[in-house]
Amino acid sequence: MQNKLKDLAQKLADLAAEYTPHIQTLGKGINDVNLAPNFKLREFECKHCGTVKIDPELVRRLQVMRDEIGKPIIINSGYRCPEHNRAVGGAAGSQHLYGTAADIVCPGASIQQVRQAAEKHFKNGGIGRYNTYTHVDTGPKRRWTG
Ligand SMILES: [Zn+2]
Ligand SMILES: [Zn+2]
Repeated sequence: MQNKLKDLAQKLADLAAEYTPHIQTLGKGINDVNLAPNFKLREFECKHCGTVKIDPELVRRLQVMRDEIGKPIIINSGYRCPEHNRAVGGAAGSQHLYGTAADIVCPGASIQQVRQAAEKHFKNGGIGRYNTYTHVDTGPKRRWTG
């Protein structure tokens, strides 16, 4: 009985795909939206579940940094849902939970260059200096070394 139901469900799914091919493409472009010339919403998604929220001011400042450095900035971590934040050992009140933070790398520039640009454009925000990446956020002014 269960197998028959499974077969039936599969047949219905196949039929639906055949008669409404657009259904298969619906949703494929989710978050494939430019927030700034060089940043898409997708890049800020939670790496674990794909949900996202983002502070427009964070994106604006990242774009200014990107323009100034003249090389692509990669978002290693943008928004994190609570579950993912716990899984990666993020701080309990991490700015990543609020969509106000990004961990960035810039393969075309030195880490010093990225830190200098961060210092300039996130002057009143948070900056975490790690060996392999830089954390920036639009939260309260804080500085730390990871
Ligand atoms: Zn998640
Ligand atoms: Zn971070």
